[in-house]
Amino acid sequence: MNIILLGPPGAGKGTQAQFLVEDRGMVQLSTGDMLREARTSGTEMGNRVAEVMDRGDLVTDEIVIGLIREKLETVDAPGFIFDGFPRTLKQADALGELLEEMGKSLDFVIELRVEDEALVKRIVGRAEEAAAAGKPVRADDNEESLRTRLTAYYKMTSPLVGYYYAKGLYSRVDGMAAMEDVRAELGARLDG
Ligand code: AMP
Repeated sequence: MNIILLGPPGAGKGTQAQFLVEDRGMVQLSTGDMLREARTSGTEMGNRVAEVMDRGDLVTDEIVIGLIREKLETVDAPGFIFDGFPRTLKQADALGELLEEMGKSLDFVIELRVEDEALVKRIVGRAEEAAAAGKPVRADDNEESLRTRLTAYYKMTSPLVGYYYAKGLYSRVDGMAAMEDVRAELGARLDG
C-alpha cells in the first residue's frame, strides 16, 4: 500500500508518517529529510538548494523527482508513505508515471487539515522546543520563511487536492485532533 500525506507545513505529516512506520512497517519517503541530509553531507546538490530551502521556497521539480526515483528504485518496502512529496502538479504526474513504470499503485491521498493560525503556533513552538532541548533549529522554522512556505503550499500544492479528488484517491482527516486520535483515524482509514 502506497500513500501520500498531504498538508501544509506543521500539519503533522512527519509525525504521522513515523507512526505509520512503527505501526505498519511502511517506509517514509520525505523529500524534506532527503534534502536536509544532502545539505548536511555537503553534496553539490545540497549546497545548491540550501538558500532556496532556508527562504521557504520550493526546490526544482527535477531535483525532488530524481530523489524519489532513486529511492523507489533502490528501497524495498511493503509500502511507501510520501511525506512532503509531491508538492506540485508536475511532481504528481511524475510520481504517477514512476509508480506505473514499477507496477506499483497509489492507494490513498490523505490530507491533514489544520487551521492556518495553528500552523504558525506549531512551527514556532517546534523551533522553541528544539532550541530549549539544545537541538538544532531548522533554518526555515522562522515566521518569515513560514509565510513563504505557506504561500508556496497554497499556490503550488493545494491544487493537488482537486487533482487527487478527481482520481478518486483523496480524503482528509482532522489534523487539529490530538496526535494519537489522528493516528487512530489514519489507521482506520487505511484499513477501511
Ligand atoms: P519539509 O521538510 O517537507 O517541510 O521541506 C523543507 C523544504 O524542503 C521545503 O520548504 C522546500 O524548500 C524543500 N522541499 C521539500 N520537499 C519538496 C518538494 N517535494 N518539492 C520542492 N521542494 C521541496
